[in-house]
Amino acid sequence: MVEILKADLHLHTAEDRSESIEHNAYRLLDEAHSQGFDVISITNHDMFTFNRKLCEYAGKLGILLLPGVELTVEGRHVLVIGELSGIRQVKRLKDLYKLKREQTLLIAPHPFFPASRGLGKSLFAYLDLFDVLEYSHCYTRLINYNRLAVRVAEKEGLPMASFSDSHKLWQIGRSYSLLLGDRTHEGVLSALRSGAVQMVTRPLGPLALIRTIQWIVPGLVGKLLDNTLKRGSQKHTVPEFTETIMDSRNAG
Ligand SMILES: [Zn+2]
Ligand SMILES: [Zn+2]
Repeated sequence: MVEILKADLHLHTAEDRSESIEHNAYRLLDEAHSQGFDVISITNHDMFTFNRKLCEYAGKLGILLLPGVELTVEGRHVLVIGELSGIRQVKRLKDLYKLKREQTLLIAPHPFFPASRGLGKSLFAYLDLFDVLEYSHCYTRLINYNRLAVRVAEKEGLPMASFSDSHKLWQIGRSYSLLLGDRTHEGVLSALRSGAVQMVTRPLGPLALIRTIQWIVPGLVGKLLDNTLKRGSQKHTVPEFTETIMDSRNAG
């Protein structure tokens, strides 16, 4: 049955120990439920936060939980949603073509946001790889790096979707997407792919901007220091996977 689905497919939780996040996946699901979300995906960095128990918990709340991950490939972030088999073999951006299939969605998150690990100019070499470009939550009325992403999406006929990239609970619900599709793994992916998406997003106001800077800047400084210390010893981040993946169609 086709319905309007409130969706956020870019969310982080405390299970990702590379980030300092207070809420775990269950607390996130509670918050998503309280805000009436129908579909979410937990996209922690280079790890899976998805298992049967979590799926069952989401199912009880009426939420469809899709497997997801925010992969770091060649130092760039890529969201992979849905069927994740074969992901361990991805070492280079070109390896992502092996994941290009109906049950897997490839999203370019925050593509042109500076100081993030967005694809930036690399996106132009891989435009045929991505199903969707993300409209990043992080912008103000004056400064909005999504404008270039919108131009690229329009020129290339690529759909866009807005998600929260939440690291804090207060961020959830600020940017999300309404999808027109079936409440199933396949229905959600096909709605996004076909552009049956309405973005619901608003620029950061002064208070939200201050709160965002408060958590983003210390994190960036920490990562820069970390990268400087590691420089020379590591060319690319190689994903580590700490949770077992399972086919979402067998659960939730
Ligand atoms: Zn990212
Ligand atoms: Zn993210």
